[in-house]
Amino acid sequence: MSDKLTLAEKVWHDHVVAPGADGEPDLIYIDLQLLHEVTSPQAFEGLRMSGRTLRRPDLHLATEDHNVPTVGVVGGNLLDIKDLTSRTQVATLRKNCEEFGVRLYPMGDVKQGIVHTVGPQSGATQPGMTIVCGDSHTSTHGAFGSIGMGIGTSEVEHVMATQTLSLKPFKTMAVEVSGTLREGVTAKDIILAIIAKIGTGGGQGHIIEYRGEAIRKLSMEARMTICNMSIEAGARAGMIAPDQTTFDYLEGREFAPKGADWDAAVAYWKTLPTDEGAEFDTVVHIDGDALTPYVTWGTNPGQGLPLGSRVPDPEDFITDAAKAAAAKALKYMDLTPGTPLRDIAIDTVFLGSCTNARMEDLRLAAGVLRGRHINPNTRMLVVPSSAEVKRQAEEEGLDEVFRAAGAEWRTAGCSMCLGMNPDQLAPGERSASTSNRNFEGRQGPGGRTHLVSPLVAAATAVAGHLAAPADL
Ligand code: SF4
Repeated sequence: MSDKLTLAEKVWHDHVVAPGADGEPDLIYIDLQLLHEVTSPQAFEGLRMSGRTLRRPDLHLATEDHNVPTVGVVGGNLLDIKDLTSRTQVATLRKNCEEFGVRLYPMGDVKQGIVHTVGPQSGATQPGMTIVCGDSHTSTHGAFGSIGMGIGTSEVEHVMATQTLSLKPFKTMAVEVSGTLREGVTAKDIILAIIAKIGTGGGQGHIIEYRGEAIRKLSMEARMTICNMSIEAGARAGMIAPDQTTFDYLEGREFAPKGADWDAAVAYWKTLPTDEGAEFDTVVHIDGDALTPYVTWGTNPGQGLPLGSRVPDPEDFITDAAKAAAAKALKYMDLTPGTPLRDIAIDTVFLGSCTNARMEDLRLAAGVLRGRHINPNTRMLVVPSSAEVKRQAEEEGLDEVFRAAGAEWRTAGCSMCLGMNPDQLAPGERSASTSNRNFEGRQGPGGRTHLVSPLVAAATAVAGHLAAPADL
């Protein structure tokens, strides 16, 4: 191996407990495991059955997010959760965290939120770490220059018991985004354009490093949006090298190092960026200057196009498999080839999820909605990704902007990102959603999802059809 290393290789090598021989998995030390109510119960039960404890409970952090309702929550009252299965999962997490000594942010707590917002906002997510969670979008944490991976339930248990994980070696991919984004183009448009280019399997086996001028200019919140959707390109993780933007975001946060420890940490973090001359297995280029707002038309995140396009004709795809996939997607989405994407009427706009419901996202959307009213045929849900984001947004008066425009202002949770709580699409209902998955039924059985940025979401709510702020 070359002595020039990529960011991902440096972080990986610093965590090898026992190397695997000839492509066999390495045993990797895990710095932080995040937990939520859906994928942790079996893991805790496995520990209990085998009479084990958590090796490092202090390196675990739990929150309630997937199953929590986003209306009528006044505290941590379990009876606010009407669905029995959901209530049982949340109750079980509370019992498990108490028994095994894990810090938990329950529904109604000022620190509660979606697991991938809670880690960064508390400063638990830091550069150079290995972070896992039983949730695909753990890739979000790579925005800090950490390796963030979603894992399965048996692996969650393994980490609980040993604080290590056996992981296969990976390939490296550089996605270079050059130039400067135009006004109205955001991180969500970058990542939708990347996935449209490389496909939902394009990142398979790779850890992607997002690089280039357009990436370096992004805020931490925008970087999280990009890394969040790495998994939608099939990648094992997505990363962005830590820099001054990263350090400024982290300094002073609850779990960030303090004093001399902070100085030592920053000195280490500055060694992490990819060495000059290091080679990637795969390199992809995206022209940031040329990007415009992107939306998806189909049923996977790779089926996206610039908003100014028309619904594609399946016959225009090259392979038979792609033709068949497009035809199936259009049937489910009830769309006709040739229709301008801007003509697609939207029933529901969802501004939420771990992809796009942080402060910056809410500010962008509120900027579009201020002084405007949403279309009478469209409803809009605004669901902050954490209680802290909600508090801050209310301090800035953003809740008033959303309410005055006719949107619903909710409490924090995964909400309509997935059909696992009361916020769901009805069969046939069509959404413009700032979340990350548009699979059949993802937002509720029979629901149809178009993935969009917060700016496009807000403009769409006003127009009643897919639109950008410039269209208003
Ligand atoms: S918001 Fe969606 S993608 Fe994110 S953690 Fe919740 S369910 Fe998963």
